[in-house]
Amino acid sequence: MARCVTCGSTTELFVSGVAQCEACLDKAAEAVPPGAERICRILKNDIVVAKNRAKAASAEFDLVTKESPSGLPHPDGVLRVRIASRAYAQARQDLQIAIRRLNGFVVNNTIPDDLA
Ligand SMILES: [Zn+2]
Repeated sequence: MARCVTCGSTTELFVSGVAQCEACLDKAAEAVPPGAERICRILKNDIVVAKNRAKAASAEFDLVTKESPSGLPHPDGVLRVRIASRAYAQARQDLQIAIRRLNGFVVNNTIPDDLA
């Protein structure tokens, strides 16, 4: 007979090849907040959306900066570079927030207020 990896009691139960007793399995199931799958799906999707936005903002920034390859950029060009730069910085920040939210949920079961 095998021993539960969590509490060490004897068990015949294996989950993904790991010995676990029924009591520990129940406790693990209770620890998962209700609607966890839905929340996880939303948070993962938020990361995909944020990644795509950062990618698009990066491409826009590259495009805008390449439009004035030599000499002084047109005054309007400076503004466009500034706007593209700000949009890219914001998109990167949003991506970091999305990653932090998913990590918080997966590691600490922290449900973001807007998804609770
Ligand atoms: Zn156990």
